[in-house]
Amino acid sequence: MMLGVIADDHTGATDVASMLVRSGLRTVQIIGVPLASAAIDLQEIDAVVVALKSRNIDPAEAVEQSLDALRWLQHQGAQRFYFKYCSTFDSTAKGNIGPVTDALMLALKTHYTIACPAFPENQRTIFKGHLFVGDQLLSDSGMRHHPLTPMTDANLIRVLGAQTKCKVGLLSHTQAAQGVTSLRQVVQQRIASASSATPGEIDIADAVTNTDLMTLGEALADLPLVTAGSGLALGLAAAYIQRGLVTADVHAAQLPTTTAKAVVLSGSCSVATNAQVKHWINAGRAAMRIDPRRLVANEPVALQVLEWHAQQKDTCLIYATSEPDEVAALQTEFGASALGEKIEHCMAQIASGLIKQGVRRFVVAGGETSGAVVNSLGVQSLKIGATIDPGVPWTAGSVSAPLISAPESILLALKSGNFGSEDFFSKALASVK
Ligand code: ADP
Repeated sequence: MMLGVIADDHTGATDVASMLVRSGLRTVQIIGVPLASAAIDLQEIDAVVVALKSRNIDPAEAVEQSLDALRWLQHQGAQRFYFKYCSTFDSTAKGNIGPVTDALMLALKTHYTIACPAFPENQRTIFKGHLFVGDQLLSDSGMRHHPLTPMTDANLIRVLGAQTKCKVGLLSHTQAAQGVTSLRQVVQQRIASASSATPGEIDIADAVTNTDLMTLGEALADLPLVTAGSGLALGLAAAYIQRGLVTADVHAAQLPTTTAKAVVLSGSCSVATNAQVKHWINAGRAAMRIDPRRLVANEPVALQVLEWHAQQKDTCLIYATSEPDEVAALQTEFGASALGEKIEHCMAQIASGLIKQGVRRFVVAGGETSGAVVNSLGVQSLKIGATIDPGVPWTAGSVSAPLISAPESILLALKSGNFGSEDFFSKALASVK
């Protein structure tokens, strides 16, 4: 295995895995750090992505989980490591991007790495250390209202600087524009100067186009650790293939097919998801909203949703998705993380109930929500298939006892909040039959 990736949420893991598959790397996504005794066949696999749910937990716990994942990947023979976070750099002043990066650097005995959330195909670009979402600075985008990690500063040097013990610098677009050889020299100089600094240096890497990511991949392919969104995986995979470290496989994205029942579960309140939920409802398709107030009042919401679903003939959307002002009001009343957890728990209960109703295809919107759903289904690993929209592939996993008696394949499309076109839900369902 060439590359070991540690992803801080489940949709992010799928996103980076799909980039690697698209480049021809045979990739498996593992849900959580497996027990040492777990039998996971990684023969003929080029990259393994360990999906954690560490983005919004206590920083010390996130560090511990990430180091566990690192040790497991090292034990499996991974030669390079990639800490994957969101393309909108979702974090707070407490972390967890900074503390996890510091810990991984220390464990790998490296004093230099980069941070590059850029994903130009999804309109996430970095210029002079500032992150843009489309034409807006991150801090002007919908991310300023995120329920758990509101991003109110687009200057990533400042954002990361508040979270890490390392010095934070910049690998500028101007330096990248001078080409791979020149950029490699800059990186070598940074590595040399960082080696005497304690604990080290992290450079925010500018990237505006996929060409920039290719240049970065070439220049950074020898670093023991990179930290990034999913975009850089394109550049790194291409560099590994070019150097003959891995061989591109044209069948890397093949999945089993199924015509089984499908459902859409949405616990994301991001701008794109709100538009996707509206699009589905406006098309007159079946939908049921989870009312957070009824959850807080301990009403049996999951049970009622499942009873409703059992009566439906067509594919349904079940959603907690709300507009930012409503989310803010609910959070003020009930507390952001307590409310988030209640909703995630409800989605998890619904998902396992749906398995018993014969559902085998799930489109899930929201990173945390996807984590809750996948955990409740007991899915341990995902094979990554074809991309539906940038950053969102279909994946195949399997469910087994105690949910159902004999193991069966299921298909999952795990969508990070802000990804996907307005008609994403229908498009995903139509693309796999
Ligand atoms: P995204 O990928 O858009 O960030 P996530 O699922 O990661 O989506 O996070 C959304 C969080 O908001 C989850 O914890 C979810 O339970 C919570 N949530 C969902 N609906 C609501 C709502 N109506 N009010 C408050 N929080 C909500």
